[in-house]
Amino acid sequence: MTAELPPFVPGVFQAGASGPVLLGSRCGSCQQHFFPACELCPDCLSATSTAELGAHGRIYSHTVVRTKPPLGLPAPYAVGYVDLDDCGLRVFALLDPALVGRLQIGLPVRLAVAPLGTDQHGQPCLRPYFTAEPA
Ligand SMILES: [Zn+2]
Repeated sequence: MTAELPPFVPGVFQAGASGPVLLGSRCGSCQQHFFPACELCPDCLSATSTAELGAHGRIYSHTVVRTKPPLGLPAPYAVGYVDLDDCGLRVFALLDPALVGRLQIGLPVRLAVAPLGTDQHGQPCLRPYFTAEPA
């Protein structure tokens, strides 16, 4: 059933050998990575291509949101910036709601994809988020 759910946004992740991998883009000229993906490099205006950004990183900063959540997310939920190990990019991302109360700067995290919340039409969907690496 899980596999039948659509992603919240297409093209943000794909299945990898050991779990989901975050997708973004990479500039063909200056080699910078971007997330979310963009067609043209914001720095040099060259064309970009889809690039795997990896699945592992560390929390750079985080916050817990305790206002009414959008899109069927649980209350409270957490968001933050994650520094990705593979490409060095810092991405803004949803953090595992189960980590609220245990979030720490520097916490090693990995990408997960699971049914979480709803899409813009109120339908259940798969949503990527970062969760703690197994201890
Ligand atoms: Zn560029």
